[in-house]
Amino acid sequence: MRKPARMSIFNDRLHRESKTVEAMIAIYCQHHHRLKVMDCPECSELQNYAIDRLQHCPFHEGKTSCKNCPIHCYKPGIKDDVKRVMRYAGPRMMLRHPILTVFHFIDDRRKEPLVVPQSGTSSTTLETDCPGPSATKRNR
Ligand code: SF4
Repeated sequence: MRKPARMSIFNDRLHRESKTVEAMIAIYCQHHHRLKVMDCPECSELQNYAIDRLQHCPFHEGKTSCKNCPIHCYKPGIKDDVKRVMRYAGPRMMLRHPILTVFHFIDDRRKEPLVVPQSGTSSTTLETDCPGPSATKRNR
């Protein structure tokens, strides 16, 4: 019997986007907080939230980039946090993570999701299943 393909950045979009988010938050945290993400409560929480959103994405592998998403499942305040991280880390990604960056540009070409989410699933009521980083920490 053939083994199922191992999840990698080359064959699994959600895995790839999780790695991209982790890399971007790591760059941001290192430059702003002088910490590794695992030692930074604020960035750990943001990372866990973003990866949780990806894992619950109702579009699965058919997703667009989050910035083109018709749902925008992030809470507004957290969406701003993620935008701030992306704005800072984005231009620094090519040197440090060229393969993820190239995939990001390729993935970004999909402007609409390939699948329609089912209403009533936990992934369409995201604010209740993942509260996200606390507001007090976000203002640091
Ligand atoms: S629902 Fe949209 S914003 Fe949320 S993870 Fe999926 S593509 Fe990104």
